[in-house]
Amino acid sequence: MLRVESHGDVQRLHFSTWRSRLVGYSVSCYAVRGVLIDSAFHDVGDELLAWIRESQCRGVIITHAHDDHAGNAERLARAGVPIQLQPDSEALLKTPQRRGPHRWWSWGAMPLLRSPVTPFVAQGLEMVFTPGHSYDHYCVWDADTRTLFAADLFLGVKVRVAHPVHREDVRAQVASIRKAVALGPTRVFDAHRGLLKDGAGLLNAKADWIEQTVAQIDRRIGDGWPDPAIVRDVFGREPLFAYVTLFDWSHANFVASVRRTYPAR
Ligand SMILES: [Zn+2]
Repeated sequence: MLRVESHGDVQRLHFSTWRSRLVGYSVSCYAVRGVLIDSAFHDVGDELLAWIRESQCRGVIITHAHDDHAGNAERLARAGVPIQLQPDSEALLKTPQRRGPHRWWSWGAMPLLRSPVTPFVAQGLEMVFTPGHSYDHYCVWDADTRTLFAADLFLGVKVRVAHPVHREDVRAQVASIRKAVALGPTRVFDAHRGLLKDGAGLLNAKADWIEQTVAQIDRRIGDGWPDPAIVRDVFGREPLFAYVTLFDWSHANFVASVRRTYPAR
């Protein structure tokens, strides 16, 4: 299902299926300057391609190689739609990845990128390297309108879980968020929540919360605590969806990410 929302010069393309809605998931791509940011997930590929044909969109930017942002990369490449993406994302899309059953359920297949990519550079839009959520994560910055397309940089203030796919690094997230806020965005579009009210304020609140939480975890690591005890003390019990995702998303991965980068650089 595709729902289109207009925000002046920006159109939000909000994609979901009955299966993704059942587990509370959807994803948004954004059209700006005749370019589409991200390609959604494979199960909505027909709607995405139809929209691209009708809108005469010049090309697609892919922010990172996760299923719900790059799920149609191969389809676009095969159809000859120009794509702008970074070398790390391209390499990930060409390599088989471990995908849990919850990803198949929510997003569908994730075909490998095999077709040659027609390269493209979007005018007036800059890809800003913001690793942390994944090591190949980029935001897109429109300097003229001070608009940040934040992809998965935000997601929520207190995201108390992390996932190991593409090496999530919660410590790196803080630096990336501060870097994005320093650009001075007046509008922030999130790939799942749409246009954020006071986006810069929310991003700062998220960076502050991660810093405080990481400091709590660092202290316990320094005192020799094992991970399960840290998880229980800082976060409490794992949420239900940690079990549903076979611990792909879990408090344990948050703590493991902090330990991987301990001591702080
Ligand atoms: Zn992602």
